[in-house]
Order: sequence, then C-alpha cells, then structure tokens
Amino acid sequence: MGELANCPNCNALFVQGIRDICQDCYKIEEQAFRTVYDFIKQRKNRQATIAQIVEATEVDEELIMKFVKEKRLRASQFPNLTYPCEKCGKGINDGILCGSCSSELVNDLQTQEKIDQVSARNKQQEQSESHTYVSYHKNRNNY
Ligand SMILES: [Zn+2]
Ligand SMILES: [Zn+2]
Repeated sequence: MGELANCPNCNALFVQGIRDICQDCYKIEEQAFRTVYDFIKQRKNRQATIAQIVEATEVDEELIMKFVKEKRLRASQFPNLTYPCEKCGKGINDGILCGSCSSELVNDLQTQEKIDQVSARNKQQEQSESHTYVSYHKNRNNY
C-alpha cells in the first residue's frame, strides 16, 4: 500500500508506490524516454550531447539528465551524455560532482579534520599551561 502524495511534476494527488511521480507523468516520461532512446540508439547519434538531443527530440533537458542519473541512458554507451558538475559545471555522467571537485571535497574535509585536531590540542596545551601558571603563582605566594 502506498501513501497519497502530490506529484512533484504536476502536483496531482496520486498513490505513491515504486514511482515518485503520478501515472500520467510516468507515461509522459516513458514516452519521452522512448523518443530520446530511439534517437540516440541510431549509430550516427551515439555521440550526441544532451543539448543536441533536446534540439532533435524536444524532450526537456532536465528529463534527459534524469535518465542519465538513473542510468537508463548509460554514458558507457553514449559518451557525450553528460550533465554539469554541481560545483564547477564540468560535464559528468556519474554522481553529482566531477572527479576533481569530489577529491577536492575530500581534501577539504581532511583539512578541516586536521584543523580541528590541532585546535583541540592547542586548547589542551593552553589549559595545562594556565594550570602551571596558576600553580607557579600559588607557590610564589607561599613565600
Ligand atoms: Zn504528475
Ligand atoms: Zn567539478
């Protein structure tokens, strides 16, 4: 049993099941997929970019990108089916970031971790230093 939800495409109420869009939109999407697939499976169109497919089939660019992201259109078969990296806009066909942006992201995270470690250590040191300082003064006051 699915739950009632609003279709993200057309806002119609539908029963959410295996699909995240309503039956009508699903049919339209399937139709669009066939159109795109029929176009690109032709040998001369194998190298087509998304922009060229949009021009030839009049299918929404976003929809084509969705097919690529869902891997219904495979970049291994159609090498120019790429969508922009969310960070730098370079054409990619897997994930949301290109190779260099995602390794940059990992580096950033690692750097942040190191910074955190160092500042934690500094804090510890500060605490022990101020502790020594205090005890030094105490000792002096004892004289
Ligand atoms: Zn819909
Ligand atoms: Zn990038």
